[in-house]
Amino acid sequence: MQALRKTTPEFGLKLCEVAQPASPAAGEVIVDVAAAGICGSDVHIYDWSGGYDFLKKAFPVTIGHEFAGKIAELGADVGALRVGQPVVVIPSVECGACAACVAGRLDECRDRRGIGMLRDGGFARYVSVPAMNCLPLPDTMDLGIAALCEPLSIAMSAIKAAAVAAGDTVLVMGPGTIGQGIGLLAKARGAKVVVAGYDDEDRLRNVNALGIDATLDLKTRPLSDALTLAGVAEFDIVIEATGVPSTVQAGLDLLRPSGVLVICGIHGAPVSFDAAKLVRNRHQIRGTYRASRATWGEVRDFVVAHQAELAPMVTHRLPLTSAIEGFEMARNKIGSKILLMP
Ligand SMILES: [Zn+2]
Ligand SMILES: [Zn+2]
Repeated sequence: MQALRKTTPEFGLKLCEVAQPASPAAGEVIVDVAAAGICGSDVHIYDWSGGYDFLKKAFPVTIGHEFAGKIAELGADVGALRVGQPVVVIPSVECGACAACVAGRLDECRDRRGIGMLRDGGFARYVSVPAMNCLPLPDTMDLGIAALCEPLSIAMSAIKAAAVAAGDTVLVMGPGTIGQGIGLLAKARGAKVVVAGYDDEDRLRNVNALGIDATLDLKTRPLSDALTLAGVAEFDIVIEATGVPSTVQAGLDLLRPSGVLVICGIHGAPVSFDAAKLVRNRHQIRGTYRASRATWGEVRDFVVAHQAELAPMVTHRLPLTSAIEGFEMARNKIGSKILLMP
C-alpha cells in the first residue's frame, strides 16, 4: 500500500510503497482509513521548520492523526467492535505502564505515543490502532466529517476551559479549523460569537458559512471593531487560537474584569503581557491542549448530530496520490480543512 511518510529530518514528505500492517496484536485493530485531515502540525512536519525533533526517533513514520475509517481486522480482546464498523480514532496512545495508567487515570499519562507522530498514522490505506482508541460511529456517517473530531476535540477543550455559557459574548482569535470549531461550539452553547483573523479572507468566509456572521479581517479593520460587531463594551471570554504572541495582550485589552482568556494556540516564542493590568482586572488566563477521553465522547456525539452544519469546514477531498498538492494548498492557506482519502 502507499503511505505518506516522514523519512528524513529535512523539508518534505515521501509517498512510499510499504507493507500492509501485519495481523493486529491483542487489543489492536486494523482500520481501513476513509479520510484523514491535514493538520497545521502536519504542515510543520512537512516544512521541518522546527519543533518536531522528537519525531526523528520514529523515522520512517507514516503521519496523519485526524482520521476515521472502518474496522478491517480485529485482534484478540477488542471488546464489542466488529469488522466493517465505522470508527473515529483518538490519536493519543497511553503507555499503560505509568502510575497514572495503572491507577486508571489514562488522561494523566505522561508517556504517550501519538498515532501519526511516534507510530504509524492515517495517511495510508490501513493502520493498526488500539481498539480502545476507536469510537464507534453510525453506519450512515460521512467519514470525512468524522475526521473533524480531532480538531473539534481541541476546540471543545477550549470551550470547556472557558466555561462558555448561554448569553456570553465570546471573541475567537484565529479562523483556522480550531477557531472555526470553537466558534461553532460556543454558538451551540448559546453564546454570541465574533471571529477575527488576519489576512484570512477564505477561512473567514468559511466561518460565515458555518452560520457565524460576525467576522473581522484585521488586515482592513482594527480589533476593537469586534466590540461593535458584538454590541458590547467588553467580551466575557476571549479564546486565542493563533499562536501569535501579540494576540494575548490584544485579547486581554478587550476582556471584562474577571473575564477568562483561553490560550490554545501553540506559540513559537514567549508571550509578554501587562501583569499589573491583569491583576487589577482579576483576569484569568487558562491553557488547554489535548482533549480528555470524556471530551472525545462528547465531540463524537456532537459531530454525529451536526453533520450538515459541520460540512462547510471541509473544503477539499483529495486522493492520497495528491498528498503533496494538498500539503502545498494547506501551506498556502488555500481552502480550509483538506482531507486525504486513502
Ligand atoms: Zn490535528
Ligand atoms: Zn501512562
